[in-house]
Amino acid sequence: MTRATFRFYEELNDFLPAERRRQAFTCICARAATVKHMIEALGVPHTEVELVLVDGESVGFERLLHDGDRVAVYPKFEALDISPLLKVRERPLRRLRFVADAHLGGLAHLLRMSGFDTLYDNHFADEQIAAIAEQQGRIVLTRDRELLKRRIISHGCYVHALKPAQQLRELFERLDLARSARPFSLCLHCNLPLSSIDKEEAAERLPSRLCACYSRFYTCNACHRLFWEGSHWRSMVALLGPLLDDR
Ligand SMILES: [Zn+2]
Repeated sequence: MTRATFRFYEELNDFLPAERRRQAFTCICARAATVKHMIEALGVPHTEVELVLVDGESVGFERLLHDGDRVAVYPKFEALDISPLLKVRERPLRRLRFVADAHLGGLAHLLRMSGFDTLYDNHFADEQIAAIAEQQGRIVLTRDRELLKRRIISHGCYVHALKPAQQLRELFERLDLARSARPFSLCLHCNLPLSSIDKEEAAERLPSRLCACYSRFYTCNACHRLFWEGSHWRSMVALLGPLLDDR
């Protein structure tokens, strides 16, 4: 029989039952169980894990567990650069692109507003989300931990917060998004780049009182909607401003 001792750190504890949080506990492992298998069996999706140490040594997800192993499981580190230690993920994604599940429409909207390519459709089934993530190298966003346990999903984020603005802040912190944000560069409806157009061109399509008030206009080449820096824009600036401050 294989018994291993586990200790989960920081917010990974949220996935555990109360009696297992913030302390070491021993459990019986299935025969030939890997690190990843046991971590997920204990309730923590692999996408949430950044570093696994077995008896103090960094290991990959496929490491087989042996009797007496002491396993320490860590989420993404905020302050400490542990990249020399990383073994669980083969490669970071070069571009941050997302696919959001059906319950995260509000967050998807805010991510697009921040300039992050985010696919969202409330008809996406779990299989589709997983397939899109794999084929297009997208990070899965969800509050469904079973979805994140799917094998083909290599990068994902379990979103802890419930409200879109807080969810956005959570992602900015976890993924350090401030530096790569490009606010107002994407169409909120189509998730495609906006291009700026001159005032004369906008004037043909807008009431003159609107045109008089604003100087910059943008359009989406797919849906042809026009955007300008009006009240909606200002409320988005108010929301995004604090997140972009630490750039
Ligand atoms: Zn559009």
